Amino acid sequence: PAAGATRVLRTVSEWRSLQSDGLLPPRASLGLVPTMGAVHAGHLSLVAHAARDNDLVAATIFVNPTQFGAAEELGAYPRPWEDDLELLTAAGVDYVFAPSVNEMYPPARHGTTLAPYVELRDADTLCAEGARRPGHFRGVATVVAKLLNIVQPRSAYFGQKDGMQAIAVRRLIEDLNYDVRLRICDTVREADGLAMSSRNVRLLPLERAEAPAVYAALCAMREAHAAGERRAEALAGHARDALRAAPLLRLEYISLASTLDGRELDLLPDEREELPSLASIAVFAGETRLLDNVLLE
Ligand code: AMP
Repeated sequence: PAAGATRVLRTVSEWRSLQSDGLLPPRASLGLVPTMGAVHAGHLSLVAHAARDNDLVAATIFVNPTQFGAAEELGAYPRPWEDDLELLTAAGVDYVFAPSVNEMYPPARHGTTLAPYVELRDADTLCAEGARRPGHFRGVATVVAKLLNIVQPRSAYFGQKDGMQAIAVRRLIEDLNYDVRLRICDTVREADGLAMSSRNVRLLPLERAEAPAVYAALCAMREAHAAGERRAEALAGHARDALRAAPLLRLEYISLASTLDGRELDLLPDEREELPSLASIAVFAGETRLLDNVLLE
């Protein structure tokens, strides 16, 4: 497309036409940035990475119902379409794929009979995030599989912000043999440490003021880990101490997990092991759920 022009596609057949019309050459160097919209600087850093590595960049905007639990805020999820399109255009995105729910899950095929989905075995029991959100990773794996099949990118960009999601998508791509390079990009934060999130706009001023305590607690764990602490319970204690400064935040979990499969650890590996561990915290600030993590290298 011409410089500055961003094409919006709403259906799978429109995307296929891009390919058959030659606008998207076979094996084009195309980077995919999947999002649920409400675009912020975290998403834009994925776009910037994709633009650096590829000739063409596609972003998807799809608020995926199958990854939301019954009690979660699917209907209330922010959808500022005009702003999103403006931000993605300014960032140099070539194609925005923004399908409807019916397009992704056609009603005729959406009945439970024979409905296919991608299951990541034990995701709902092995990791803290899965245990709190049964079915979430099945929804994520299924929609990511569909988006990879539709868009057929050479590389796909995800954020470290959703640490378990990054682990899950890696398994999906490796074990289902997607010919896609996975890039996990660093978490983008506000100046005070709060991880950027589409949900942050819902924080009330007092909640927003306490929200940086999540990252402070993660940093407390990272410091204790750097000082040699390897017991998960002791590391979590450091995080709980830090969170006492933020009485409005209701702790959901502190997790210390393997980056191999998200499995909860009692004792973290020592530094000779090449794999980092994942330290995550989830809290509620009022109705708003905050999730963040750091890697312990
Ligand atoms: P979402 O729209 O929340 O589903 O996020 C879309 C992608 O952006 C996911 O791969 C997220 O991990 C990533 N992402 C969200 N927030 C951030 C952030 N603060 N820094 C980096 N990546 C992020």
